[in-house]
Amino acid sequence: MSRARPQRTCAACRTERARDELIRLVVGPNGSVFVDVRAKLPGRGAYVCPQRSCVDRLCARPEILRRAFKAPVDSTELAARVLEASTQRAIDALSLVARTGGLIGGAAQLERLARRQQSLAGLVFAADAADRAKRNASKLFDGVPCFQCSLDAASLGEVIGKGPRAVVGIRYSALSETLLQELARAEALG
Ligand SMILES: [Zn+2]
Repeated sequence: MSRARPQRTCAACRTERARDELIRLVVGPNGSVFVDVRAKLPGRGAYVCPQRSCVDRLCARPEILRRAFKAPVDSTELAARVLEASTQRAIDALSLVARTGGLIGGAAQLERLARRQQSLAGLVFAADAADRAKRNASKLFDGVPCFQCSLDAASLGEVIGKGPRAVVGIRYSALSETLLQELARAEALG
């Protein structure tokens, strides 16, 4: 980790991390806590790790955010909003990579790729993918990171502009690393 990256502290566990590894929260005029997805909104922000345990802690103990924002806060919807924002970021990253031809879907295509000894940066499983399909795909690409996605096969296929896809492979590209990070984040919050 470079020293030049600005550091922030998670309000829940007090761990210091690079700012872009944390989720920025802001408070609306009515006290509602929102996710600042682009981390660009003006005003006071609070940060939380992209981890379920830290988000849950902020929901369970609203006084933490009340202190951070120096204002009354309503954190009842926070867990749902954090998950929604992270899922949306992962879907946006998936569609962006799909548009650049960075995703490959369908069992037959994945098998063909594996036969040609080509590797992948990662595998994405639809929420309703059968265990057998997941096992087969991970066996084809041994050691490749796998991500469980909250989209079902129909929606995952739609994102890549195809019919239903239970398993999608991520090719190595300039964008694949970012996509893996977004998928890991969404998974850690789910
Ligand atoms: Zn934390």
